[in-house]
Amino acid sequence: MSKSLFADASQRLEQAMKYVAISEDALEHLKHPKISLSVSIPVRMDNGSLRIFQGYRVRYDDTRGPGKGGVRYHPNVTLDEVQSLAFWMTFKCAVLNLPFGGAKGGVTVNPKELSKLELERLTRGYIDAIADFIGPDVDIPAPDVYTNPMIVGWMMDQYSIIRRQLTPAVVTGKPITLGGSLGRDTATAMGAFFVIEAMMPKFDMPPQETSVAVQGFGNAGAHIAELLSKAGYKVVAVSDSQGGVYCKKGLDIPRIRQFKESQKGIKALYCEDSVCKVVEHEVITNEQLLTLDVDVLIPAALENQITEANAKEIKAKIIFEVANGPITSGADKILEEKGIYVFPDILVNAGGVTVSYFEWVQNRSGLYWTLQEVNQRLKQKMVEETEPIWQMSQELAISMRTAAYVHALNRLGEAINAKGTRDYYLSK
Ligand code: GLU
Repeated sequence: MSKSLFADASQRLEQAMKYVAISEDALEHLKHPKISLSVSIPVRMDNGSLRIFQGYRVRYDDTRGPGKGGVRYHPNVTLDEVQSLAFWMTFKCAVLNLPFGGAKGGVTVNPKELSKLELERLTRGYIDAIADFIGPDVDIPAPDVYTNPMIVGWMMDQYSIIRRQLTPAVVTGKPITLGGSLGRDTATAMGAFFVIEAMMPKFDMPPQETSVAVQGFGNAGAHIAELLSKAGYKVVAVSDSQGGVYCKKGLDIPRIRQFKESQKGIKALYCEDSVCKVVEHEVITNEQLLTLDVDVLIPAALENQITEANAKEIKAKIIFEVANGPITSGADKILEEKGIYVFPDILVNAGGVTVSYFEWVQNRSGLYWTLQEVNQRLKQKMVEETEPIWQMSQELAISMRTAAYVHALNRLGEAINAKGTRDYYLSK
C-alpha cells in the first residue's frame, strides 16, 4: 500500500530535525493533529432528494494562535488530505510569523455538479456542522481549491446567524463588501511573485530569457502566470484540470485568461476550431507540462504531482511550489540529486494566508487598508522571511524546503517550550 499523504508530509519534520535544537516534547506535540472533526452534511437537492456529504475540519496546532486554513471542495477530499493540509498550514503560518496555528477543512464533493442553490445549502450545512469548532479566536476558515469569496461569504453569514451576531472575522477571503480585504483575491500569486522576484537575481536569469511553465489555472495559477508574463517572463505553457497549451515563443496570458473565463476551460482553446487562432499554441497534457524543457516550473494545482515516477524526467532548473504539497518527499530527493532548486509551498504560497491575516486584523480593528497598503505589507513580509531561509540553505548546504521547516520549527518549538519543558519541571 502506498504511504499516506500525511505520513509523507510529516517526513519533512524528520529531515529538518537534524538542524534544529527542539525539545523532544515539542517534536512529539507536532507529530499529531490536535483535533480532527468529521461530519455528515445532509443537503436537500434541487430534485427533492436528500444527499449526505462528508466534511472535515482539522485543527493541527494552535500554540501560536487560533487555527487558520482554507476549506477545499473537491471529489478527492479525505481526512488524510485535510490533515496534511492542516499540517502544512501550521508550518506556513510559523514561516511567515503570523499569530496563527494551522487548520484546514474540506468537503468531498464535485462542486461543478451542484447548482448554485445546492452549493449554498451545502456550505451553510457545513458551517452548521462545524460552528462549535470555529470562531475568530478559535479557528478561522478561508477559501482553497474550488471555494471562492461567494462561498466564504455564505460561511460568514451562516456563522453570524448561529451566533446571532455579525462575525466577519470568523472567515477570511470574503467579498470586499462583507468585510473582505482588498488584494486577498490575488494574494497567493502576489506573494509567490515577491518570492520569485527576490530569488531570481541569485540565479542570474533575466526575465526575458527565462521560460516558465505553470500547472493549474485556478486563482493562484492564472494570476501568477499573468504577473510573470507582465514582468517580462516567457510563460510558455499553462494548463488546467482538462489539459494545457504550449508555445515556445511565449503565450498571450491575458487573452488565455479572458478565454478561460468566458469558455470555462483552457480545453476550449484547442477544442473549438474557430478559436484555435486566439493564441498560437500546441496542445499538451498536464503530465507533459511538468516535464517540459523550461527554466522555471510552477506547480499551482494539487498535491502529489511530482513523484518518484516522474521526478527523473523534470528538466526545469528551479521549481516554485504555488500548490500545497505538489512534490512528494521521495521526489524531493531525486530533484535534489539533479541539482534542481525547489522553493517550498510553505513559503511560496504563504501570500494567501498572509493577506488573510491582514483581513482578520482589519475586521477586528474596523480600519480598512488600501490595496497599495496591503501589497506593500505583503511584499515586506514575504521578502523578510524569504531571505533568512535562503541564507540558511546556503550556509548549511540544505534544501530551501528543509531550511523553511527549520525556520518554522524554531518558532513553533519556542512557543511550545514557553508552556514548560521537561527540563523546567524536572529541575529543582
Ligand atoms: N487556502 C490557502 C492556503 O492553503 C489560504 C488559507 C488562508 O487564507 O487561511 O494557504
